[in-house]
Amino acid sequence: MRYRKTVQMITLTAAFLVLFILVRTKREPLAITLMLALSLGSIFYGKLFCGYLCPFHAYDKALGALFKRLGLKRLDSPRLDRLAPLLMIMAFVILSIVFLKAAAPYTKIRIKLPVLFLAFFFLTFFTPRLWHRYVCPFGLIMRLPALSRPLKPKIIGEKCKRCKACEKVCPTNAITAGAEELNIDGASCILCYNCEDSCKHGAIGLE
Ligand code: SF4
Ligand code: SF4
Repeated sequence: MRYRKTVQMITLTAAFLVLFILVRTKREPLAITLMLALSLGSIFYGKLFCGYLCPFHAYDKALGALFKRLGLKRLDSPRLDRLAPLLMIMAFVILSIVFLKAAAPYTKIRIKLPVLFLAFFFLTFFTPRLWHRYVCPFGLIMRLPALSRPLKPKIIGEKCKRCKACEKVCPTNAITAGAEELNIDGASCILCYNCEDSCKHGAIGLE
């Protein structure tokens, strides 16, 4: 587990630095194209991009650690599941803007909206659920079915005490309680491993 977390920290940090350098050197379309391509790859490897290569996830994790150390809290993300269709349309609009930005070098269309900034805005002021579950345009692509989902956590039924500590910290509501045991929905899980950290009973492992 420690080895995996170290790898994750390195890959997330690298992803954030790559984004920073590409934006600083005015190659935002390339940065967005890379993220779109990696998101589409989720058909083969599930949400590995979210867990290990997303610069926004890197920012969220670093900020979360900093806020925890400083005793600060972000605003609670509202539960917006009832507005799911509306939010999906909004994410689709953002995704379209993202596509147009990626295509900027090849078209005359120039969109000035700083769409990447949106992520930093949401992740700074609200708990991560709002961005990860409802707004992220790349997440919309990753709703496609996946051939495999490597490194996905799973709940070990015989160790689980059903205390639901993991459910509370999950930023995407990926953990649901069934009649007998808790389950993790691979299509929603972004491989953040908050659940693993929160479980005092060692009841979360990898599939
Ligand atoms: S935190 Fe651990 S013990 Fe509690 S419900 Fe989740 S998996 Fe089960
Ligand atoms: S808390 Fe666990 S189940 Fe929820 S997104 Fe993170 S890794 Fe997946």
